[in-house]
Amino acid sequence: MIILTKLYLAIPCYNEEEVLFDTTDKLTRKFDAMIREGKISPDSKIVYFDDGSKDRTWAIIKELHKRNKYVNGIKMSRNRGHQNTLLGGLMTIKDDCDCCISIDADLQDDINAFDKMIEDFENGSDIVYGVRSSRKTDTAFKRMTAQGFYKILSMLGAEVVYNHADFRLMSRRALNALSEFKEVNLFLRGLVPLIGFRSSTVEYARSERLAGESKYPLKKMLGLAWDGVTSLSMKPIRMITALGAVVFIISILILLYSFIVWILGHTVSGWTSTVVSIWAIGGLQLLAIGVVGEYIGKIYMETKQRPRFIVEEELK
Ligand code: UDP
Ligand code: MG
Repeated sequence: MIILTKLYLAIPCYNEEEVLFDTTDKLTRKFDAMIREGKISPDSKIVYFDDGSKDRTWAIIKELHKRNKYVNGIKMSRNRGHQNTLLGGLMTIKDDCDCCISIDADLQDDINAFDKMIEDFENGSDIVYGVRSSRKTDTAFKRMTAQGFYKILSMLGAEVVYNHADFRLMSRRALNALSEFKEVNLFLRGLVPLIGFRSSTVEYARSERLAGESKYPLKKMLGLAWDGVTSLSMKPIRMITALGAVVFIISILILLYSFIVWILGHTVSGWTSTVVSIWAIGGLQLLAIGVVGEYIGKIYMETKQRPRFIVEEELK
C-alpha cells in the first residue's frame, strides 16, 4: 500500500471576509482533484489562521469548518501581523501533517503549483520555494519597491530567495527545525533558507487579488523590509564603522591640506584648528559608535538563540 502525503495548507487571514468563500471553493476543488488523482491523502486540510480580524473572518471560518470537511481554523488572540500569525499557525499544525504549504488568503499565488511542490517533496525536497516568474500583474510601484528590496537585502549579505514571498512547501522535518529558531523579530523568508536540507524552487505566475484590498499598505511593507534587514544582517553597523574610518582618513587629508595652506599663510587665525578638529572628532565619534554597535550587534545575535546546528541524518 502506498502512503499518501498528508498536506496541510497554512493560510493567514486578516480581514479577509470578501475572499474566504471564493478561496475555499477554489481550494476545495483543487483538493478534490488532487485526492482523486492520488496525489495527497484524503485527510489533508485547509487551515485558516485568523490574525485577530475585525470583520466577519472568524465567523466565516467557523461556518466553513462546519460545512467543509477540509477546513480547520486557528484564531490568534489579537492582530499580530502576517509573519507572526503564519509562524504561530505553522507551529500549531506541524505535528499533524507530512508537509504544509503556506499561501495567502487572496490566492494571488498559483494553486496549480501545488502538484509540482508535492512532487518535489516526494522526491526528497524538504523545502520547495514558490518563485514568481514575472511581476506583470503588480503595479509599477510595487514592482520597483519589491525588486529594490531584494537587491538591498542581498547587498547587505542576507540570503533570500529572489522573488519568493511566503508561498512555500515545508516538510514536517523542516517545520521542526524552524521551531528551533526562537527569535521574536520575524522575517520568515530570510529564516527558512538558514534551516538547510534539500530544497528546490517552483516557478509560477502571480495573479491579482481575488477581492478586497491589500492588507499590506506601504507602512507594513516598509516595516517588513526593515525587519528583514535588521534581523538578518549586521552590515548596517559595519557601515557606520566604515564611514567613521573614511571620515577619519579625510580628516588626516584635511590636516595636511590645512597645514600647507597655513604654511603658505593664506588662513585666518583659528581656521586650521577648527576645520581639522571638526573632521577628526566627527570621524572618531562615528568609529566609536560603530565599535559599540558591533558589540550590540553581537549581543543581538546571541539573544536570538538560533540553533547552532541542525542534524540532517545520522548513520549508526
Ligand atoms: N495578513 C495577516 N495579518 C496582517 C496583514 C496581512 O494575516 O496583519 C495576511 C492577509 O490576510 C493575506 C496575507 O497576509 O493572507 C498577505 O496579505 P496581502 O495579500 O494583503 O498582501 P499583498 O499580496 O498585497 O502583498
Ligand atoms: Mg495578496
